[in-house]
Amino acid sequence: MCGIVGYSGSRQAVEVLIDALKRLEYRGYDSAGIAVCGKEMQICKDKGEIARLEESLPALKGTVGIGHTRWATCGRPSKENAHPFVDCTGKFALVHNGIIENHMALRKELMAKGHEFTSETDTEVLVHLLEESFRGDTHAALIEALKKVKGTYAVAVVRCGSKEVVAARKENPLVIGLGVSENFVASDVTALLNYTNKVLY
Ligand code: GLU
Repeated sequence: MCGIVGYSGSRQAVEVLIDALKRLEYRGYDSAGIAVCGKEMQICKDKGEIARLEESLPALKGTVGIGHTRWATCGRPSKENAHPFVDCTGKFALVHNGIIENHMALRKELMAKGHEFTSETDTEVLVHLLEESFRGDTHAALIEALKKVKGTYAVAVVRCGSKEVVAARKENPLVIGLGVSENFVASDVTALLNYTNKVLY
């Protein structure tokens, strides 16, 4: 099991993301990472504990972001294989829980189209599929991308310049937390209890 969190609101996202990820530590993990949307996509990730990641965090400014604790299923625990992943344009960041069964075939197709991969994970195909499908609407692009995928997932995506966190799930857990002028996603309601008790399952 891994942990996914997402935030969009008016607080600094990094504080919410780190706090919520810590509340998902009980699920077990080998790596952790976060992405915060500022003028550019800011990513900080590594293998090891959230506390270690927190110590090495640069000042990530922005009120929209996603976070992840990884339990490696495809590719060893390493900084390169930790989530979030970014597409070739640096516009999208994505975190995923689950297994993409047809990732080898998809990776081959995407590489033939010129996409550059930076990890050994099954997950990374998702962010390049998203880049391929994007026509101005992240929600529509994610639906399109996921049509090509065989496997299980909870996934959350952010895009530079947008306040949206777009999420989807199939077989893996993901809940939506509703706050006042802020919203959340998380693998488990326990991650959100500091912020809201209004949850959509
Ligand atoms: N299959 C993905 C990976 O190995 C996601 C693992 C997870 O659920 O944490 O990176």
